[in-house]
Amino acid sequence: MQYLEPAPIKDRENPLESMMSRFDEAVQVLGISDELYQILTIPARQVIVGLPVTMDSGELKVFEGYRVIHSTILGPGKGGVRFDQDVSLNEVNALAAWMTWKCAVVDIPFGGAKGGVACNPRQMSAGEMERLIRTYTKAMLENFGPDKDIPAPDMGTGAREMAWLMDEYSKAKGKTVHGVVTGKPLVLGGSQGRVEATGRGVMVSTLASMAKLGISPEKATIAVQGFGNVGSWAASLLEDKGCKIVAVSDISGAYYNDGGIDIKKAIEYRDQNKGTLEGFKEAEKIDPDELLLLPVEVLIPAAKEDVITGRNAAQIQAKLIVEGANGPTSAKADVILKDKGIIAVPDILANAGGVTVSYFEWVQNRMGYKWPLDRIVRRCEKAINNAFDHVYEVSLKYDVSLRTAAYIIAIDKVATTYKYRGGY
Ligand code: GLU
Repeated sequence: MQYLEPAPIKDRENPLESMMSRFDEAVQVLGISDELYQILTIPARQVIVGLPVTMDSGELKVFEGYRVIHSTILGPGKGGVRFDQDVSLNEVNALAAWMTWKCAVVDIPFGGAKGGVACNPRQMSAGEMERLIRTYTKAMLENFGPDKDIPAPDMGTGAREMAWLMDEYSKAKGKTVHGVVTGKPLVLGGSQGRVEATGRGVMVSTLASMAKLGISPEKATIAVQGFGNVGSWAASLLEDKGCKIVAVSDISGAYYNDGGIDIKKAIEYRDQNKGTLEGFKEAEKIDPDELLLLPVEVLIPAAKEDVITGRNAAQIQAKLIVEGANGPTSAKADVILKDKGIIAVPDILANAGGVTVSYFEWVQNRMGYKWPLDRIVRRCEKAINNAFDHVYEVSLKYDVSLRTAAYIIAIDKVATTYKYRGGY
């Protein structure tokens, strides 16, 4: 593989390696041409930029920013912008490829892309964040575009940053361009239901997979790792369906209550407590590593990559893992989980609700429509349920895991499209 940054050799469990080994596994079942294999293993575009930002102290700091377009075979690049300390080109490459597979699994006409800046948003003021995202947007002016590459929120960014991005892009183009970015605030052409969309997709996939295992929502106990936009919405929507959320965690630690945590209360507490659960008294504080090993029906990793790895997979007790995060299970862990009979609903299916509603936002922007919430909810849930049924069917057909089945569907879709579009 000719990536600009080689994967670290000492740690094979990095996101790009994990993504590639799943890709290879699916390709072995499906069989694709060498030509397409090469095209899909080398991203279409990798951009690295230096981003000088004046901090509140007056000091100038230069951040490193990335945008990777993995593939545009299915349509314009689509994917979030991550602001996080651990962002690297290797990670962004994996995340961009996952977007290609994710869009293909839910059958939306986008390719895959991802961006990121190595920074710590928790330690930055609103002004610093604004200057950083505006500088990033300026650096990416030639990349972005409603028909080229459409960013969205990811870890560390949200509607506020997407508004600044849209504004900066629109100023540069001399006209308002709503469709250049999704996940915007409602008044700027954002969509109803976008904020909770990823969590909604996780909820729908959880219920669909529990139904296959014969677990009723009222009997299900769930642990959620990560209490950001994805984890907290997934927990809240599953609570509405009668599930008992016994543990949640965030940067401040993990919290356990075998009687069930009142998720609405926890969200309210977090929102009034600088965004963390620090000091949350309605549950007992436990070791965050322990949360992953609790004897629950469902474990929802909804934070970052590689939390379920060769190191802890053997000790997982959940029956079902539903991946709210991108890449939370490493390829090594997959093998161990399979041996233990633990079912994993893969990220590219389980967390695809976000990009699905991003697609609805983009469609509304282009047509000048404003769809009501009930239409968004209905369409989003239908998209995820259909994708789940398709993945399940393919997993039976080839006798493979849900993950491999999802990759097979995605790669097959890209391969068929590529055949019609022709070679390079
Ligand atoms: N960042 C989200 C993801 O990983 C959403 C991407 C989008 O809406 O474009 O799926």
